Amino acid sequence: MKFEQYQIATELKRGLEELGFRKPTDIQFKTIGPVLQGNDVLAVAQTGTGKTAAFVIPILHKLMYVKHPPQENEAKCLVMVPTRELAIQIASVFRSIGKYTRMKTTVLLGGVEQDHQIEQLQNGTDILIATPGRMFDLIYQKKLNLNHTEILVLDEADLMLDYGFIKDIRDVIKFLPDYRQTLFFSATINSEIKEIAYSIVRNPIRIQISPKDPVSKNVTHFVAHIEKDDKRFFLERLVREHPEAKILIFVRTKVRAERVAAAMDRVEIKTLTMHSGKDQKERAEIMDAFKSGEVKLLITTDLNARGVDIPNVDYVVNYDLPDESENYVHRVGRTGRGMAKGIAYTFCSKDELAILKDIEQYLGKKINELEIDAATYSDTIVFTEDVKDNNWKALMKAEEEYLEKKKKKK
Ligand code: ADP
Ligand code: MG
Repeated sequence: MKFEQYQIATELKRGLEELGFRKPTDIQFKTIGPVLQGNDVLAVAQTGTGKTAAFVIPILHKLMYVKHPPQENEAKCLVMVPTRELAIQIASVFRSIGKYTRMKTTVLLGGVEQDHQIEQLQNGTDILIATPGRMFDLIYQKKLNLNHTEILVLDEADLMLDYGFIKDIRDVIKFLPDYRQTLFFSATINSEIKEIAYSIVRNPIRIQISPKDPVSKNVTHFVAHIEKDDKRFFLERLVREHPEAKILIFVRTKVRAERVAAAMDRVEIKTLTMHSGKDQKERAEIMDAFKSGEVKLLITTDLNARGVDIPNVDYVVNYDLPDESENYVHRVGRTGRGMAKGIAYTFCSKDELAILKDIEQYLGKKINELEIDAATYSDTIVFTEDVKDNNWKALMKAEEEYLEKKKKKK
């Protein structure tokens, strides 16, 4: 069924059309109806499957027809998220799908002045997207009132738990009316998430999509065994061989991020780094430069692993393996979003083999290995731009094609 045929406001259909969204994704197809009907929903679906619009579309529709519009300092719908980047991104989805409606979306984040945020709340807001710190601040200052909030959304719930937001989730409930609609979205599910979810929803509709393989089907992913000190050469080679590609590179710590950036700088490859050492303004600028494609390489810590939707990432590189197995899924899920296809490479050193094993156990299967023969390996170490004989490239391509074919056959 196309969005055209949905029983939703024509203003929303216009917004969707402008975005190029014609048909709902699976999770949207299953979620929109129950949310419109007022059910609590607990939805689990892989990365990049369109969970944001799955709640944005029905929420906008409902809010367009509420009996009591928001009063001073009130918000009709609260979306609580763990990171600032995610808050900004979700706001942009509300604003673009809701472009032809009169719905007002307000964002509350820490790290920036509060005066402007307070001003925006003065006449109330339909949708409020907030990270917990600033939100609680404004509640205590009586600049935000959640007594008449009708819908609560917890997006990327699994990440919230990692960030230690269990207490925040429980606390925010105290400020909300008992009679409300609660929507819970997550890419992964475990007993901890289930427990918190069930403690705040009532008779929820559970929606789960392809839980067997948590990695999005649009992502082809490989592991390559590369020693720690050699990783930079392989990254350099990948970049040189795909000069047009947008590549997101994950490292373990901010120090590592700067170190890899410096190594790339030495061979005149331009990169940006993103980690907790950057302030809010820098973060926004970095994300904009990468999103627009002005800079094609972004080296980041797991800060960017979840939820953040960056258009057209061609490759994800796990330069270091993630500490948390779940984060593997989130990292590789930064490519192959929506209808696009993507490729992810994991550079695994001997030290990291145990982590790889954990990840494979979590995935319930082995990650395909990119076999690098000794000659290619040593070539790469001495690799310079004028290496003509592109074994590595040929190897990757052959492997990708082989796997694509194999997939198609299945
Ligand atoms: P998730 O939260 O599940 O990781 P997002 O909500 O960030 O995924 O959406 C992933 C990508 O899919 C975004 O780039 C979004 O624009 C795109 N997308 C979402 N819904 C649709 C749709 N119905 N048709 C086409 N693209 C879509
Ligand atoms: Mg999401």
